[in-house]
Order: sequence, then C-alpha cells, then structure tokens
Amino acid sequence: MDGQAGREAELRANLDAVRARIERGCVAAGRAVEEVTLVVVTKHFPASDVRLLHDLGVVHVGENKHQEAAAKREECADLGLVWHYIGHLQSNKAAAVGGWADVVQSVDRDRLIPGLARAAVSRERRLEVLVQVSLDSGAAGAGRSGADPEDVPALVDAVLGEPALRLRGVMAVAPWGAPAGPAFARLAEVAAAVRQRDAEACWISAGMSGDLEEAIRYGATHVRVGSAVLGNRPPRG
Ligand SMILES: *Cc1c(COP(=O)(O)O)cnc(C)c1O
Repeated sequence: MDGQAGREAELRANLDAVRARIERGCVAAGRAVEEVTLVVVTKHFPASDVRLLHDLGVVHVGENKHQEAAAKREECADLGLVWHYIGHLQSNKAAAVGGWADVVQSVDRDRLIPGLARAAVSRERRLEVLVQVSLDSGAAGAGRSGADPEDVPALVDAVLGEPALRLRGVMAVAPWGAPAGPAFARLAEVAAAVRQRDAEACWISAGMSGDLEEAIRYGATHVRVGSAVLGNRPPRG
C-alpha cells in the first residue's frame, strides 16, 4: 500500500467508527440518525485528506483558520463540499471568511455582522450563521469565544435584522475540565429560546471527538469531529 492508499484506509476506518458512534448515540437518545450531521474538522490537515474524505462520503467540513481554509477550499473547489468556519473570528477577517465559508458557526458579537453581510451581498447568496454561545461561566477574558447566554437574544436580533444572513441556530464548545452534560443541557435551553424567535434557527452544533454522544443526547444536530477521524497530528509537513 502506498502512502495515499494507507491514509485512505485509515480515514475510512476512523470514519466508520465515528459514524457508528453517532448511530449508537442516536439510538441511545431515541433520535433518528438523520437528525445529526457530521462535520469533519479538517484544520491542520492537507487538502489531499479533504479529497479522500469526500470520496468516503463526507459532505461537511470545518476549518478554524482563515488563510489555511481559503487555500484548501480553493484546491477542493470541484468537490461541492459545504465549508463551515468554526474558529474564533476577528472583526477585520469577517468579510474574508464570509467570502469562502458556507456556514459561519462562530458569530459571537455583533461587530462581526457588517463584514459577514458585505461578503454575502458580494457573493449574491445568503450566508448561513450560528451564534456561538459560551458555556464557560466565569472564564471571561482573552481568547475566550462565545456570547454569554444572557447576551444571545440581542445578538440573535442583530443577525435577524441583517437580510444577507440566515440564522440557523447555535454552536458551543463544552467547557474544559467540567462535565459536558450540564453544559449541553444549558445550550439546549438557549437553543430553544432562539428557536422561539425564529423557527428556522433550529441547529445545535455541539459535540466533538470526546463528547459527541453526550451532545447528541442533549439535542445536537451537528457534531464537529476532528481527531477521531483524522488522527491527532498532521501525518506530514
Ligand atoms: C478543533 C475543533 C473541533 C474538533 O475537535 P476534536 O476534539 O479534534 O474532534 C470542534 N470544534 C471546534 C470549535 C474546534 O476548534
């Protein structure tokens, strides 16, 4: 087996295992497997992996760095994938990310809205966005992503006021070093309030390699899985 075939076999096995986990999680939660979309997080991994994943039936990919992602998307333009931006977003990069992303999951303050909207208008398509919610109470400060739950209603209204953006729901990362269950339960409450304001905003993006079953149990519609599919470290360069 050459390197590429070996990598394909590895990705196939990992993907099968993750899909089986999602299925079991859905069964345990009494949910239909169709309710959960797998977003494979391909950050740090090369476009060649994205291509192999596409061949293995992956449709949704997630990235968290503008430059790396824009280049990969360019290289994979023929694949028709749905590109999710899941990283922290700087205001001065919002328009650039909106230029290539199909879904921006990390809208956590209203200063991002004008740039995203401008990008959507110039692409002549509405940009799908999620409001990122912080489940990390008390961890305010540098590097933290996500709006406080109490600030979500105002942010939701700001997004809904921008016709170039289409609000699809909420996203969150479970806090470090705390059980994920209560955090995802809190997210489910926030999500329900968002859905009251706009019935189309029904996505809940939660759950990663380590906690996807728990997220599914609390209603996740999208799980973002990186290392369980791609491995812990880039295989080369
Ligand atoms: C990297 C990342 C993931 C995937 O994490 P894994 O633990 O590798 O599955 C999911 N969500 C966000 C926001 C990330 O940055």
